[in-house]
Amino acid sequence: MPEPAEQGWAIQRRLEDVFGKLGEKYGNLTGYVEVETQPGVTFAEIGGLQAAKVTLRGFATALTNPDLYRQWGIMPPKGVLLYGPPGTGKSLLAKALATTSEATFYHLKLMNLTSKFGPNTGELLQETLTIAFQEGKAVVFLDEVDAVALEHLLPPPQAREASARLVAALAEKLDGLPESSRVMVIAATNRTDAMDPSLVAPGRLDRLIEVPLPEGPAQQEILELRKAQAERNAGRRLFAELDYSSILPPMGGMSGAEIAEIVRRALEAKVHSAAAGGNAGLVSTQDLLQEIDGYKRIREVVEKIRYGQYL
Ligand code: ADP
Repeated sequence: MPEPAEQGWAIQRRLEDVFGKLGEKYGNLTGYVEVETQPGVTFAEIGGLQAAKVTLRGFATALTNPDLYRQWGIMPPKGVLLYGPPGTGKSLLAKALATTSEATFYHLKLMNLTSKFGPNTGELLQETLTIAFQEGKAVVFLDEVDAVALEHLLPPPQAREASARLVAALAEKLDGLPESSRVMVIAATNRTDAMDPSLVAPGRLDRLIEVPLPEGPAQQEILELRKAQAERNAGRRLFAELDYSSILPPMGGMSGAEIAEIVRRALEAKVHSAAAGGNAGLVSTQDLLQEIDGYKRIREVVEKIRYGQYL
C-alpha cells in the first residue's frame, strides 16, 4: 500500500491529466478538484449537530463494510444531501466522514458564479467520480449543489441547459456506480428550493440530513472548540474565564463560521496591541463582546459578498 500522501499526489496527477485533456477540449474549465488523503477533521472537532453526526457516523459503514448492508437486505447509501445555512459545518461533516472511514476526500469545486459555467461541468464530475471509484474508498464532496440552479445568474436557456447537464451527469454516475463501490457522494446546499428533485430520488442523494444553525449550547461548544484549538496551536493559555451568560445572547443566530471568525478577530486584536507594544493580556468576555458587536455591524456586507446576493 502506498503512503497516504503519496497516494494523494498520484490521484492529483491523474486528475490533472484528465482535466488537462478536458481543458484542451473546452478551452476553459469551470471547476477543479482538491484531494486530501487525510483531511484531518474529526467528528469531535465539530460542535453541536448531534443528529447529523450520529447519522453520518453510521454511514461510515457504507464505506468500510458495505456488505453489512447487504446482509440486512438493503443497499448501502451512495449519496447524502446536507442542507442548511452557510457556515454551519457541512464541509466539516463530509471531511469527518472521510477521516472516520479512512477514505480519500475529493472536494469538487465548481465555479458557480459566471457565464463561464459551461458545458464541461458534467464531465468534470463524471471524471472525478470515475477516478474516485477506481482509487478505493472515497468521499466526494460537492459544495453548493444549487450551482445546478443558476436561473438567477444566467440567461434562462443557457442556465437550464447547464443545470440539466450537471444533474444528468450526477444522476447517471450515481445510478451506474457498481454495488461494490465504496464511494459516497456528499452534496451540500443552502437552497433546498433550488434543488432538482430528481437528484434526491432513491439511489441518488437519497439520505437527507439537516445541518441547522447552532442553538446556545452548540454555540458555546463551538466557541470552546475554537478557543481550545488556538490555545493548542499557541501552546499556552490565551483566554480568561469566560462568562457565557453574557456572550451567548448577542451571538443568537450566528453560524459556526461566524463564531470562528469572532474568535479569530479577538485574537487578532491581541496581535495588534502586542505589536504596538501594549500589554495584550488574555482574551476576556469584554473583548469577545466587542468583537461580536463589531462583526454584527459588517455582517450584512460580508454575507452579501460571500454568498453572492449582490449578483
Ligand atoms: P459549510 O460547509 O456549512 O458552509 P464549513 O463546514 O465550511 O461550513 O464551516 C466553515 C468553518 O466554520 C469551519 O472551518 C469551522 O471553522 C467553522 N464551523 C462551522 N460550523 C462549525 C461547527 N459546527 N463546529 C465547529 N466549527 C464550525
